Amino acid sequence: MSTAEGLRAVVDLRSDTVTQPGSAMRRAMAEADVGDDVYGEDPTVNELERRSAELLGKEAALFVSSGTQGNLIGLLSQTTRGDEIICGDASHTFVYESGGAAALGGIHPRTLRNQSDGTLALRDIVAAIRPKDVHHPPTRLISLENTFRGRPLPPAYLEEVGEIAETHGLKMHLDGARLFNAAVASDVEVRDLVRRFDTVTFCLSKGLGAPVGSVLCGTRGVIDQARRWRKMLGGGMRQGGVLAAAGLLALDEGIERLVEDHRRARALAEGFEQRVELNVAGCHTNMVFADVPVAWGPRIADDLRERGVLISLGARLGDVVRSRFVLHRDIDDNGVERALEAFVELAKEHRAERPSATS
Ligand SMILES: *Cc1c(COP(=O)(O)O)cnc(C)c1O
Repeated sequence: MSTAEGLRAVVDLRSDTVTQPGSAMRRAMAEADVGDDVYGEDPTVNELERRSAELLGKEAALFVSSGTQGNLIGLLSQTTRGDEIICGDASHTFVYESGGAAALGGIHPRTLRNQSDGTLALRDIVAAIRPKDVHHPPTRLISLENTFRGRPLPPAYLEEVGEIAETHGLKMHLDGARLFNAAVASDVEVRDLVRRFDTVTFCLSKGLGAPVGSVLCGTRGVIDQARRWRKMLGGGMRQGGVLAAAGLLALDEGIERLVEDHRRARALAEGFEQRVELNVAGCHTNMVFADVPVAWGPRIADDLRERGVLISLGARLGDVVRSRFVLHRDIDDNGVERALEAFVELAKEHRAERPSATS
């Protein structure tokens, strides 16, 4: 078995970022028509940007290196130093993007508690909007995330936030790293889901299966600004068409396929409940959140790795570790079954070790 096949035989539930480009995608990359994208001359990048904008119902789009870069540029393009943005206290932008908006943009984040369904309470948003006063940083923008921890935000909620933004003259940015999972799960056209947002980032490199890249979409004016910010951040790519070709294939073939990941996530969740007796805390798209007993010991992840299953453990909550398991194109039905078998074995071993209460 080659190394690549060896890697693929592993059931990697850590993230949907781990997918390997298949042979059709590698071929599309090898054969891409390319040019210098900083001159605007890469036909494949231009096509990816055109297609992305069309899909989201926006005027223009910009191919960027990552979701983090897309969010940062989206915010930089719509604020000036000292502006305040409203975002979730558990949002990716606030927690996991190295504080780039503050460090590089002088943007003042006003965090509101993310509710368990990922929303920011409407009354909290309204209360956070600053009155015009020399003492306050001006509130400029509301930033939301969809899906949030694998949960699609209710489409009606997005409309309500849009109303608030409109009333108060605020911009709206969406971190839609897994936007298409949200659209598929909500059974709503993606363009309708993002109607209220001035800028939207989505990742090609997660469930859609491309190796690299994200896209920022918005109005022509904002995307022109964004192109300048991307250059300033060192994100101007040259023959980027090699990567954009994978992105185009991801859009062509990756979106429809997401229902498979969602179906397999439900199968994994059911197996966890029925065969492993784990508490499942949530399963809405391609992610399962389940509680692994602390009593299984500190080596759980290693024990699973030895059985060909990769997981990452989450945060301890009392006597369990709430962990995230992510389905993606490199896990088929057989992979789900193999993961469940590994968990069943571990559960059995643990029960055998545990002294019975009745004996
Ligand atoms: C992955 C992710 C990002 C950023 O993506 P990178 O490409 O890893 O920079 C942003 N937001 C959310 C919700 C994500 O899951």
